[in-house]
Amino acid sequence: MTAPEPTIGHISNRLTSGDFGPAPSAFLIDRDGVINEHRPGRYVNDWPDFSFLPGTFDAFHALSTTRNPVIVVTNQSGVGRGAMSALALEDIHERMIKAVTNAGGRIDAVIHCPHPPALGCTCRKPAPGMFLHLAKRFGVSLDQSVFIGDAITDLQAGASAGCRTLLVRTGEGSRTLGSLSGLSAFDPGVAAFQAATLKDLPGFAGVAGDLRDAVNHLIIPDGA
Ligand SMILES: [Mg+2]
Ligand SMILES: [Zn+2]
Repeated sequence: MTAPEPTIGHISNRLTSGDFGPAPSAFLIDRDGVINEHRPGRYVNDWPDFSFLPGTFDAFHALSTTRNPVIVVTNQSGVGRGAMSALALEDIHERMIKAVTNAGGRIDAVIHCPHPPALGCTCRKPAPGMFLHLAKRFGVSLDQSVFIGDAITDLQAGASAGCRTLLVRTGEGSRTLGSLSGLSAFDPGVAAFQAATLKDLPGFAGVAGDLRDAVNHLIIPDGA
């Protein structure tokens, strides 16, 4: 039996044509709780369940002005559990990309782990398999890339992959923030972005209010 691999889809021509250069640094973004509302205990099984968080379109628009791939990296064990078909997930991602594109943004690929936790695959976050796959397949330079997520498993996966990580407060983010030790000086009143470090999570760069705040911190818009 071959080892289970992550599934990668919706790959842009720019990404396959090498338009981003031989070892691009990428913007890697978790899906649930970062791009769309995270509903604890419930999967997004269908497009009507998918609800963009405020500021998401602005964030993708800003990212589209960069010369870096924008890639969604997401655990979707609902597929492996049989809660949702692979086709339904593809449909959600197609519509997500279309909505982002129509709003002036860009998503160059979506990579997901469809496996249930019990399978013990190497791609389900907190394992770094999806990131390593992006490095192998597209030459993504992980140590020059940033991963934006809302769960501790995102920060762990990013750290294992050698990426810089940012936590957002949306989705599980506030709860994750509360669970991090060593952030005692953190001011919960700061909305946009606050730099922070964590001993156990190399690469951790700080906390943003949401995806838009994270992106605003990371990039300087054209003409600024
Ligand atoms: Mg998430
Ligand atoms: Zn997996």
